[in-house]
Amino acid sequence: MGNRSGVPIKDDHRRQSHEQPPPPRPEEKPSPPKWPKRSSQHPPMIPRPLSGIGRVLGRPMEDVRSTYIFGRELGRGQFGITYLVTHKETKEQFACKSIAARKLLNRDDVEDVRREVQIMHHLTGHRNIVELKGAFEDRHSVNLVMELCAGGELFDRIITKGHYSEQAAAAVCRQMVTVVHYCHSMGVIHRDLKPENFLLLSSAEDSPLKATDFGLSVFFQPGQVLKDLVGSAYYVAPEVLKRNYGPEADIWSAGVILYILLSGVPPFWGENEQGIFDAVLRGHMDFSSDPWPSISSSAKDLVKKMLRSDPKERISAVEVLNHPWMREDGDASDKPIDIAVLTRMKQFRAMNKLKKVALKVIAENLSEEEIVGLKEMFKSIDTDNSGTLTFEELKAGLPKLGTKISESEVRQLMEAADVDGNGTIDYIEFITATMHMNRLEKENHLFTAFEYFDEDKSGYITMEELEQALMKYNMGDEKTIKEIIAEVDTDNDGRINYEEFVAMMRKGNPELVTNRRRKNFLT
Ligand code: ADP
Repeated sequence: MGNRSGVPIKDDHRRQSHEQPPPPRPEEKPSPPKWPKRSSQHPPMIPRPLSGIGRVLGRPMEDVRSTYIFGRELGRGQFGITYLVTHKETKEQFACKSIAARKLLNRDDVEDVRREVQIMHHLTGHRNIVELKGAFEDRHSVNLVMELCAGGELFDRIITKGHYSEQAAAAVCRQMVTVVHYCHSMGVIHRDLKPENFLLLSSAEDSPLKATDFGLSVFFQPGQVLKDLVGSAYYVAPEVLKRNYGPEADIWSAGVILYILLSGVPPFWGENEQGIFDAVLRGHMDFSSDPWPSISSSAKDLVKKMLRSDPKERISAVEVLNHPWMREDGDASDKPIDIAVLTRMKQFRAMNKLKKVALKVIAENLSEEEIVGLKEMFKSIDTDNSGTLTFEELKAGLPKLGTKISESEVRQLMEAADVDGNGTIDYIEFITATMHMNRLEKENHLFTAFEYFDEDKSGYITMEELEQALMKYNMGDEKTIKEIIAEVDTDNDGRINYEEFVAMMRKGNPELVTNRRRKNFLT
């Protein structure tokens, strides 16, 4: 593949920026966790509050160094430096991207970082997206603590390997397109798919890929037309260059990556940025040079379908995942691929009532930045702007996010999400039923919910407390309470302790995920 510095894309300058690390701050004693000794589970540390509201995240400032010890630098970009950090109590390692406040010069810069954090929160919960553990803002910086990807960039692995076997290329491409499908079904366009934006979780040959950079991603409504010229030259879709595009542009970029994985060179090449753009607009691809003659026609068929110049004719993410060359099992299965919100609502349906109410308590306590994406989705389904979703709105709205859904399924979801049983889904019910995959790991949320039930702060949720809480939500019949206690109370003492509560909340919860930024405007 062509060397990265062959084309003057701004990204390259950013890579080499010589930003100074923030001055070391004196190590301060962590505040003792004000945590009841009720469980062997590790309680979260109580973050040290700083005075004032952060101008980026818009919530009380918090010193990331109260909870994490900073280690070596992992990499740097235009705004930020990513460090290896260690959680003071659990000793777990993470990556922390530190964005210097002084680099955020204007309102757009602040807005970009804010949106990146919102999108990371919104997308956390997918196995191929780096998990965001937390966002902290203090006077000097915004800090994004995320899952550590120790395996380096996919880009470097491609360089080392030259090109991949068809099977290995299919495995890599499948993971990327899964991310694309997830983004689109969650109302996000990625806009900057390229190998540099995927990191490997470990150095193992079969390590999962993690999408890490949502710095150019945006929320979109179905049918919305975007016009900003953003992305990276090799991967940019022709309709982006024409400033008239939607989510299909991501499929094009994934198609370019697949072409590179199979052949080792980019499909559209030029001496400079303009030369590459001209080649993209021409849309001619070489399938005659080596190694293409020895590549299967099925692989070529998929590449061509992903790189159709007309976005309307281009294959969708779901169709890519169902393409015979791409399918994991290799043989025909026409199982429809669920949109994320649908999966989440289905999981919600299967939960016991305590868990549902606990999630509602958590939902009511989430910060704006954590739910802004779901709020956007709610608004796009709530077409009459009434603040509640009816059966008809849900039936019309879910397919717009990218999948077919039967009438009876809509009815089941409606019933499941409608916690108070009034026949419509209000905003907080929607958040409750759809946020659970990515919020549960955050222990402070779990503790807030536990404390809500444990009114007398005894360390246990008793039968009476459970009854009271469930009654508030019209769920408090005796049979339900008995069922819940029987299910959750694993030590059979007739009450629920924190450990049992956490175990219940995490049960059946899929693994989690997150992200980071890289901006490289083409203009
Ligand atoms: P940019 O996106 O502008 O390149 P980042 O700070 O996002 O800046 O990333 C810079 C480098 O930091 C990456 O190329 C990678 O090497 C490293 N990095 C970023 N996120 C992680 C992570 N979660 N785990 C390990 N390394 C990371």
